[in-house]
Amino acid sequence: MERVTLFAEILLPLPVPGTFTYRVPYVLNDLMEKGKRVVVQFGKRKIYTGLVKEIHQNVPEGYTPKYILSVLDASPVVNLLQFKFWDWMSDYYLSYPGEVMNVALPSALKLASETRIVRNPDFDGDISGLNEKEHLIAEAINIQKTLTVSEVARIVEFKKVIPLIKNLMEKKIVLVEEEVKERYRPKTETYVSLTTEYKSEEKLREVFDELEKRAYKQLELLMTFLSLTHDVNGGSMEVKKKNLLNTAHSSEQVLTALKKKGILTVTKKITSRLEKYDAQQSVDSITLTPEQQKAFSEIKSHFETKEVVLLHGVTSSGKTEIYIRLINEVIAEGKQVLFLLPEIALTTQIINRLRKFFGEAVGVYHSKYNEFERVEIWNKVNAYAKDREDTGYRIVLGARSALFLPYSNLGLVIVDEEHDTSYKQFSPAPRYNARDSAIVLARMHGAKVLLGSATPSLESYANAQFGKYGLVELKERYGGMQMPEIIVVNLKQETRRKMMKSHFSSVLMKHIEDALKDHQQVILFQNRRGFSLRIECNQCNWTPTCKNCDVTLIYHKHNNQLKCHYCGYSTAIPERCPECGHTGLMMKGFGTEKVEEELAIFFPEAKIARMDMDTTRTKNAYQRIINDFEEHRIDILVGTQMVTKGLDFDHVSVVGILNADNLISYPDFRSFERSFQLMAQVSGRAGRKHKRGKVIIQTYNPNHPVIRFVIENRYDLMYRSQLAERQQYKYPPFYRIIRIQLQHKDNQFLYSAANEFAAELRKKLGKRVLGPEYPIVSRIKNLYLKNILIKIEKSGKSHQIKEQIKETVDDFKARSRYKAAKVVVDVDPL
Ligand code: ADP
Ligand code: ZN
Ligand code: ZN
Repeated sequence: MERVTLFAEILLPLPVPGTFTYRVPYVLNDLMEKGKRVVVQFGKRKIYTGLVKEIHQNVPEGYTPKYILSVLDASPVVNLLQFKFWDWMSDYYLSYPGEVMNVALPSALKLASETRIVRNPDFDGDISGLNEKEHLIAEAINIQKTLTVSEVARIVEFKKVIPLIKNLMEKKIVLVEEEVKERYRPKTETYVSLTTEYKSEEKLREVFDELEKRAYKQLELLMTFLSLTHDVNGGSMEVKKKNLLNTAHSSEQVLTALKKKGILTVTKKITSRLEKYDAQQSVDSITLTPEQQKAFSEIKSHFETKEVVLLHGVTSSGKTEIYIRLINEVIAEGKQVLFLLPEIALTTQIINRLRKFFGEAVGVYHSKYNEFERVEIWNKVNAYAKDREDTGYRIVLGARSALFLPYSNLGLVIVDEEHDTSYKQFSPAPRYNARDSAIVLARMHGAKVLLGSATPSLESYANAQFGKYGLVELKERYGGMQMPEIIVVNLKQETRRKMMKSHFSSVLMKHIEDALKDHQQVILFQNRRGFSLRIECNQCNWTPTCKNCDVTLIYHKHNNQLKCHYCGYSTAIPERCPECGHTGLMMKGFGTEKVEEELAIFFPEAKIARMDMDTTRTKNAYQRIINDFEEHRIDILVGTQMVTKGLDFDHVSVVGILNADNLISYPDFRSFERSFQLMAQVSGRAGRKHKRGKVIIQTYNPNHPVIRFVIENRYDLMYRSQLAERQQYKYPPFYRIIRIQLQHKDNQFLYSAANEFAAELRKKLGKRVLGPEYPIVSRIKNLYLKNILIKIEKSGKSHQIKEQIKETVDDFKARSRYKAAKVVVDVDPL
């Protein structure tokens, strides 16, 4: 047989243009396939996992390519549609293909020399079934705890190291280190069941007789247990402990007594994703209201002519029920569905709602999951491509990175809360917007897109108004529930009449009191961007600032420190003012922590909790607070925008917005839109199931138009007023924006670099170029920042303009004497 000399274009996860050409050794010829992973050497001592993007016979000119070291996969892990999508993304967002690969692929799928591996804490120590080399690595990792791939390569042959580690990962013996830190701790739930001894009727009867005489409470609990296991679980003889104690109105002590007698046992179970999820309810059991039914039909009829439909439905209108119906139809056609949510809204609430109907067909992709789970989901989505039966995931519920899974046959993409800014990736590149990218991805699959929101982004709503998207409106809440009553409190008056208690107006205080008396719950919103607590000298007005960033330090009470929210720098509070020596340093402004503390003074009986960046840092903290609130272990929840994200609570009768002015006055062309969205979303948390809720907005500007629009629930008026402004001042959706940020540690150097860069750009793009200017925060982590803005008219040839920007950047990086300045390009910045 004739031997063909093959070359392959390999994509590496590096910030460099294009692919790299490698030669295929003859023995690997038959194994080569686009989308498989290969191991290659790069530079002198580095090895990387790359992806085969092309296979060809064109001999490279002027150099001798290195050989591919090995092929890792039996079948492709990345499909051709994904490559096409990645190419689009790197083009559109002016980033390198390798950068896209880097965000797209879970790290366990791209081992490289620097990757650190560690022993899997779940490994049981059984090393039978390992070959000699695997054995050596397993032992080394046991002693060393952590090794880089290069270090492992010293134990075994350089060329073989990655395939070996890959096997050890599959055998669950080692893990990629960064993922261990991120390890997801599954939630456990406690179940009660009968001991085997008491499973016979006879034994039970004996026990009944005995308990009836001496321990009536225990008898009651046991009876409740039996009735619950009988009707709820259809014979599976266990119930959740919480459920049992609630239903029986019984206590822990009574249960313990039955445990001691050996009648009941208690076990903790992991409610893990790997458990079987059976669908418990059929989608047909949802009865849509006539309004919802109408919306559902409208969506479908729009889909006949349009790729994208915007579902504008007020909070609690039942958008999710409509999604479930649509998903059901699409998977019945044998297609896949991607359901995107903002990261923070990915709670068990929504996951369980979907699993109730679709059981194991639903995969969840979440940044809090560890590598095993991520790779597992990747493989299960991929499995669907090969075998469209039961093994693969047909529905993926995920945050923005779920865009990158290996779909082969998408039929529908749902982007819920489409206005949410967390769909945009800020750093690192590619700085993509998942909503916009989802539309492109869907088009590649011939799929439809449903955008859903109670407060759509101006861009999406404009697209609907201009006829590019279909528009469907749902104006009523489910079950005839009313929109909340909105009460505006004029802080000027309240202050003048001395009716404020700290940051709470008399009106708000009264409503909180009433709600608590009524056993209802309260949410108080204090926005992140507003003033938090800082200190100021009351003689010379000195305030401490960060030594690395151009921002004021924030006071944190729990450790009595001043802290930078940009870089994490923290320092003790000085005893006296370093400027004037005065000792009268006072607190200014207020943050969530302060609010929490003061509430405790006014409502000593209430259980108060706080939800913000500081309280949700650990893995499950966010979910825990939500559970506690759901189960009414919290009466008042104080929080930042986190409390606005699509949560569904049943007993919230009052929502307070402590200071609306901080939101409105933020200097950004989107602040009007944003403050409307935030206020409307927070308000949506009030009064969901039982009773009309109340929203109290505290402000010094009760007549501000945005507050009026919120009170009257007039998204349409907000939209119209903003659209006119956007047109006048040349902003989206009439103009596209590309922001180029230059960064350097020397301000003078940066100044010249930015000027030179802007001048180069102007030669090509003329008046479209604005700046350079310092952003509001002009130094972060010791780097000074300068922004250049490019505004492109809608009719402008944006592709050509992007090419020119790219040229300018490449030129600058190659030739400018200021090339040490870092250039960050952000297309469609938020
Ligand atoms: P949205 O997503 O628009 O905020 P949801 O879909 O969360 O609204 O619906 C709000 C609440 O109303 C949920 O608890 C949901 O279960 C309930 N609901 C909505 N529509 C229906 C329906 N047709 N039948 C039963 N319950 C419904
Ligand atoms: Zn001073
Ligand atoms: Zn800082």
